[in-house]
Amino acid sequence: MVKGESPKGKLSIVGFGPGNQEHITPKAFKAIQEASVVVGYKTYIRLVKGLVEGKRIVQTGMTEEVKRAGLALDEALKGERVAVVSSGDAGIYGMAGLILEICKTRGIVPGKDVILETIPGITALLAAASLLGAPIMHDFAAISLSDHLTPWEIIRSRIEAAARADFVVALYNPASGKRPWQVVEARDILLEHRDGKTPVGIVKCAYREGQDVVLTDLARILDHPIGMLTTILVGNSQTLVFEGWMVTPRGYSRKYAEAFRPDALDASECQPKKGPA
Ligand code: SAH
Repeated sequence: MVKGESPKGKLSIVGFGPGNQEHITPKAFKAIQEASVVVGYKTYIRLVKGLVEGKRIVQTGMTEEVKRAGLALDEALKGERVAVVSSGDAGIYGMAGLILEICKTRGIVPGKDVILETIPGITALLAAASLLGAPIMHDFAAISLSDHLTPWEIIRSRIEAAARADFVVALYNPASGKRPWQVVEARDILLEHRDGKTPVGIVKCAYREGQDVVLTDLARILDHPIGMLTTILVGNSQTLVFEGWMVTPRGYSRKYAEAFRPDALDASECQPKKGPA
């Protein structure tokens, strides 16, 4: 780009949701459609393959995010319309932060050197929650158990703090072949503060091929397969199971006990009010 010119290239950082077309927002769909270059992790490209035909594809492996982000920026600086695709939301353990960090390091100014936009997507914890019922009706904490970029001591202290403060806890990246023990330790920390009967949802491949939804309790989570395609939702001290649905009460039944009675509803109260005569 010639200095002083307004940027022609555009970089859209797109979260495409849990992995099927119905859960891609129209805005994300449009950004991918309008791009000439699509950049992403191989598995993610496969998940949006119906949308990327005829486009130039830049795909790299899982641990090559830095390379991928750099390549995407280079293409946008050359004037291309680029979509970087990330599953769920790109700003949650995704590519958005990394791209902005690289801009900062390389002195690339979004809006001046390149047009930058981030498009939100349905993150895994929301997808998982919807399959389980309403487990995150109250305050929650998302914690990634991957110690690839974060020292375990920090992760450990966050699990401990969330457990102590009675947050509903969503565990991302719970385990992989190389990292089998973190989820065991996470469970042990949670058990120090929470009853073994606390409801837990384990959701694999939400809204993707191979979807599996398990409702269990904290003491028994390790009886079920847990891997990199799994998100675990651990209830708080109030979470209950009703007819196979995991529910974290928000407090309505305490505050509005009367209104919960079946005869409490007076339909006339819901009619539109008549205006002045
Ligand atoms: N940006 C993504 C998260 C990437 S980290 C998002 O917002 O969802 C990768 C982790 O996300 C996985 O290890 C898993 O814990 C979770 N995950 C992503 N997609 C999932 C899906 N379809 N079902 C269940 N968990 C998923």
